[in-house]
Amino acid sequence: MSIILHAEDPGVKGVRKSVGEYKSRYPEYADALGMYGSIMEVQQEALEKVVPAAGPSAGEIEDSLKEGTPLLDPGDLEIDVALFREVAGKMLRVLEGRPDGFPYHDDVLSWDGLSDEGFSTTRNLVLAGERMEIDLEWRGDDDRELISNVLWEGLVPFYRKYGSICESEVDHSYWQKGFCPICGTPPLIGMFRPEDGLWVLECKLCHTPWNVMRAMCPFCEKGVEGSLSYLYVDDDRRKRVQYCENCRQYVKTVDWRDSERGGLLPLEDIVTVRLDLAAKKEGLRPAPGFPGKVPDAS
Ligand SMILES: [Zn+2]
Ligand SMILES: [Zn+2]
Repeated sequence: MSIILHAEDPGVKGVRKSVGEYKSRYPEYADALGMYGSIMEVQQEALEKVVPAAGPSAGEIEDSLKEGTPLLDPGDLEIDVALFREVAGKMLRVLEGRPDGFPYHDDVLSWDGLSDEGFSTTRNLVLAGERMEIDLEWRGDDDRELISNVLWEGLVPFYRKYGSICESEVDHSYWQKGFCPICGTPPLIGMFRPEDGLWVLECKLCHTPWNVMRAMCPFCEKGVEGSLSYLYVDDDRRKRVQYCENCRQYVKTVDWRDSERGGLLPLEDIVTVRLDLAAKKEGLRPAPGFPGKVPDAS
């Protein structure tokens, strides 16, 4: 039986509405939700401007899924660098609304690493989670990381567009792996789907959903049946760290089986930050990406 998953992009209005709902349910995360919501709005706006790259044919997609290789090496996707600078610039402006401000907007945008020539190196460093050579009057290392995270978020609409043109041909019955079938990136977070409990993970980069089996660890190279376990905080079993006792790797998952409304997974990622701390305390590691050509992007 083939399984096709379709991700509905929420659009700017959808993001705004969800952020409002999450803020009233999780007032303690209101600032983070507001900030990230604004970043998501920039992404949704940008999605309409990204000209889709030519995607692979249905046959090529099927072959690559059967081989167990992601469709795309993220370093190969052609990106309109001028549009990227525009998107990243809007996101850097969003950061100026932080309590302690953000003094780097102009410096980052005029930095060589975002020029047409420098972009490709910068993109690869951001995807690999490696340090960029950007020479600024730093206030601290956190700011450096923040810039890297923003550049990652700025890349998202380009990969999302690519994912959205491929997804209708992706038959998930061929793919039960711990990394994204489109770009090989690890999952951001997962859910048990409201309608049927299917375990669906969402890619950190292209936000494509994919399905994994609940009986077997998707991260072990040779999955062992029955190795999955979970932990939770505050007696809330609907938000969990799903981890493997064998490889000690995890992905957060929200259980929406009894929920009518579901939600937005990137916002769930924000309000479950304590699960990551609990996982770390247990010595668990976040899910890895495709071991072939995609560097660990965590
Ligand atoms: Zn992906
Ligand atoms: Zn495992």
